[in-house]
Amino acid sequence: MEKSHPLFCSIHNHTTFCDGKDDIESMCRAAYEKKLYSIGFSSHAPSEKQLGREIFWNLKEENISNYINEVRAAKERWNGKINVFLGLEVDYVKGKRSSLDSDITSMNLDYIIGSVHYICPGFKGKAICSGACAECGKHSDELIIIDDSMEEFCKGLNDGYGKDAEKLMNNYYDAILEMIELGGFDILGHVDLLKKNTINRNLWLKDNEIKRQREVAEAVSKKNITIEVNTGGINRKKINEVYPSLTFLRIIKEFNIPVVITSDAHNINDINGNYNTAVETLKMADINKHYIFNGRKNNKTDWLIENI
Ligand SMILES: [Zn+2]
Ligand SMILES: [Zn+2]
Ligand SMILES: [Zn+2]
Repeated sequence: MEKSHPLFCSIHNHTTFCDGKDDIESMCRAAYEKKLYSIGFSSHAPSEKQLGREIFWNLKEENISNYINEVRAAKERWNGKINVFLGLEVDYVKGKRSSLDSDITSMNLDYIIGSVHYICPGFKGKAICSGACAECGKHSDELIIIDDSMEEFCKGLNDGYGKDAEKLMNNYYDAILEMIELGGFDILGHVDLLKKNTINRNLWLKDNEIKRQREVAEAVSKKNITIEVNTGGINRKKINEVYPSLTFLRIIKEFNIPVVITSDAHNINDINGNYNTAVETLKMADINKHYIFNGRKNNKTDWLIENI
């Protein structure tokens, strides 16, 4: 396959199988027309059953095999034109959902993005809910979606944390650290997603958060995990910077962690949306290489390394 430089891939994408606007075929065509090296699909993994609540943005359990078959069929159809890969974005919620669950590991995916979208304030002194709901019987309802609207986020901060934003921030990074420790995924999703509803609000001491981010980078550096530089927040006009922030990327640089540029696209136009901002931010962080996904070989992710 002829490579066009600069080379990019797009492996964090949502389609009509979950909360995306476009189907798999249209996304493949868009990626081909934009001359990307590879496109991967990372539908939000089903988790209604596991989290015990209705979630409209996830892949439905009954559609899993259709999803797998359609991506595999696209892989065949686009063979020789663009590499198509099968993945999932899997939520981590302690004791309830992770990439190591058997329904996920049995799918034979090319890659998994591990993401934290929910946190839990915990009950009776527990830092994070354990999934054992015997004590209150309503843990699942108390999960706070940090990726939702500002209104929902503030409701979670008030009701769940009694406005203790620092505790919320710590719970978030605790969850990220637990997910890394547990493993079972290849790419760490939007690692400072928490900023979506908290940026520029001075809810906690910046230094305290940087300390937690350093812990995260150190934990990642001991595993075979790539961190995504995700432009989705810019594409959807929620924030004007990539996940992770420039400060966080400078720490990531210190630990020499591989990064892959992604767009978290929910439509064909965003498939490589704002990649130039990602490249500029990486340059500012003095990171001079980014990784291009090249499939799974010997049960490990395979990457091409591209200079910036
Ligand atoms: Zn989504
Ligand atoms: Zn996500
Ligand atoms: Zn996503």
